Amino acid sequence: MNLIIGLTGGIGSGKSTVAKEFKALGIEVIDADQVAREVVAPGENALHDIELFFGAGVIDVNGALDRAKLRDIIFQCEEKKQWLNELLHPLIRESMLTQLAEARSQYVILEAPLLFENKLNQYTNYNLVVDVTELNQIKRATQRDGNNDAQIQAIMNSQLSRQARLAKADYVLDNNSADLVALKHRISLLHQQFLALLE
Ligand code: ADP
Repeated sequence: MNLIIGLTGGIGSGKSTVAKEFKALGIEVIDADQVAREVVAPGENALHDIELFFGAGVIDVNGALDRAKLRDIIFQCEEKKQWLNELLHPLIRESMLTQLAEARSQYVILEAPLLFENKLNQYTNYNLVVDVTELNQIKRATQRDGNNDAQIQAIMNSQLSRQARLAKADYVLDNNSADLVALKHRISLLHQQFLALLE
């Protein structure tokens, strides 16, 4: 794949909404969070390794990874967290790069909430940031997830600040307006700009 566009933004900024529009335009979107879930799906070697290391307590009744339990354990133990990261990070990177390489659309989008934080921008050519005010972020994320303001604020605090993220952007999509028709139009203009990069 010759052109990889990173798509990022804080929680509730509208990444999924924007990704959906690009998909409607025929562009393949690789979702970094989804790749991270795929590598520990039932049947994957990594899940077996995790069960051996952490015990059967981290596997739920359906044979899937109990993420909340695992999160609790690694939150309390830096060494276990490191073990998990050393297992998963190379697997996630390899799967992500394979999926990006196999994409057959004109360009491909790598959607990642932590694109810059996890240095995934080393794999992208340009980066599009979906930008909203912190107030809109909190409003939309709380409505979507049923979390309270403090829970969303805590996640926002673990991510890059709005200014720091914007400073790293090659393209910015303002998603403050509730006018979704206008948003769609701006996405089609960006799509044209990305296609022009291929010429
Ligand atoms: P992210 O993937 O960045 O966390 P989402 O795309 O899930 O964000 O958007 C967060 C919530 O806000 C969703 O419920 C979505 O439907 C809603 N939303 C997205 N864009 C807009 C918009 N322009 N106006 C109003 N609501 C929006």
